Amino acid sequence: SAAAPKAIQNPDIKCAKIFINNEFVDAVSGKTFQTIDPATEKVICEVAEGDKADVDKAVAAAREAFRLGSPWRRMDATDKQDLMLKLADLIERDRDYIASLETLDNGKPFLISHAVDIGLTLKCLRYHAGWATKNLGHVVPMDGDFFSYIRKEPVGVCGQIIPWNFPMLMQAWKFGPALAMGNTVVLKPAEQTPLTALYIAKLAAEAGFPPGVINVVPGYGPTAGAAIAEHMDVDKVAFTGSTEVGQLIPQMSAGSNLKRVTLELGGKSPQIVFADSDVEAAIDNTHTGLFFNQGQCCTAGSRIFVEEKVYNDFVEAATEKAKTRKVGNPFTDVDQGPQVDEEQMAKILDLIDSGKKEGAKMTVGGGRLGDKGFFVAPTVFADVQDNMRIAKEEIFGPVMQIMKFRSDEELIARAHDTIYGLAASVYTQNVDRAITMANSLRAGTVWVNCHNVFDTTMPFGGYKMSGQGRELGPYGIEAYTEIKSVIMKISQKNA
Ligand code: ADP
Repeated sequence: SAAAPKAIQNPDIKCAKIFINNEFVDAVSGKTFQTIDPATEKVICEVAEGDKADVDKAVAAAREAFRLGSPWRRMDATDKQDLMLKLADLIERDRDYIASLETLDNGKPFLISHAVDIGLTLKCLRYHAGWATKNLGHVVPMDGDFFSYIRKEPVGVCGQIIPWNFPMLMQAWKFGPALAMGNTVVLKPAEQTPLTALYIAKLAAEAGFPPGVINVVPGYGPTAGAAIAEHMDVDKVAFTGSTEVGQLIPQMSAGSNLKRVTLELGGKSPQIVFADSDVEAAIDNTHTGLFFNQGQCCTAGSRIFVEEKVYNDFVEAATEKAKTRKVGNPFTDVDQGPQVDEEQMAKILDLIDSGKKEGAKMTVGGGRLGDKGFFVAPTVFADVQDNMRIAKEEIFGPVMQIMKFRSDEELIARAHDTIYGLAASVYTQNVDRAITMANSLRAGTVWVNCHNVFDTTMPFGGYKMSGQGRELGPYGIEAYTEIKSVIMKISQKNA
């Protein structure tokens, strides 16, 4: 029933400053940085560059909004729920504009921004809105004459640092549980993609969130990001990004105030195709499992293990499928836009070169497309060996690795031969094999006969060096909750 998506090619930039206490302000330093359209390499606009001084201001605002007796702390749960639903409604009202802004800043195809990124953002906010009114505690039958209960409280001021691959969706994953549980937030969007986060902050003010509940500080990682992670008055930090930076965050927490830490980091997820699968469907699913979002997904299924019997046919079909991918101006009807920035493109091209040099068989693609915009040709490597860089390192681009396997036992060991454990998928029609594999693989999400399927009801996160903690679903709520035991002496308990 929704209106047909209407792209706005040159969306007006309405919000490019730091958002504190429901107002847009310049950086204390007065500095700005540029955000670039990755499809044209043109500067979109200057954005206020927050650093430590601005994070201090934002944290002070968030702390004040969290003070005992504040409007936010005293707000009825039903009102909190309504506010979150209202924010979702406002995002839906401005869907064409926000999807256009996301595409301009990030490069992802507009139709995807509109359907997928906004679609999942709305579901995430609405799902979490419901939690605000369902935050139940427990009364506990403890020994002795006591009345005792467990109360679930907000953690407090939450710092949130997010990446550029799904800017508005990652914001929703962070805002949803934090707000539902009554926390206040200071969010730092990625420097490559600050624009939708700032516009959505403005909508939050329009919805009626009290000043200081939501603060957004655009800026760079080592300055603004680190200031959040090291802050003495931030109670929790949630970080989504690279494993490299993810290793720094707990150190910053430990070196400051032991703030709670949750991490969503990198991956090198296997997709395992058995000969007994519906191979045609597996070709489609492994294709989107890798190429979706220009390959810029932490869950990208970039190690495709194919059973020997169907290997040659699979390589041929996967190559043909990659050739059909339409790459170009993300405001037109394409499958793939540019990579987010020049640095990412260079990293991808370097890994493609390493694949060629180390002797993998490139069957399609293999370089940059054109000389304006950060477009990379959909690339497929076959005959990839486990020790090659392209089999080990996260590429975060449209580059597929295909490897051959012979037995289930050999396969599990090879699938596990990685520092990561974010996701995995298995393609088979054999139920026993599907369940046995799903239970064996050390990964936070295992998909069977699909890949990259997300839902706000299902917890998401990593084993091993892919992260700590879970987001979404009931476990995501826990990450934004402190547990308090209240034990009250009474004269006689009675059963
Ligand atoms: P990517 O390599 O995908 O850009 P990063 O981990 O570098 O991933 O970035 C994810 C987020 O972490 C961004 O918002 C970035 O600004 C931030 N960030 C980068 N370095 C640091 C740091 N040293 N401390 C805190 N945040 C950082």
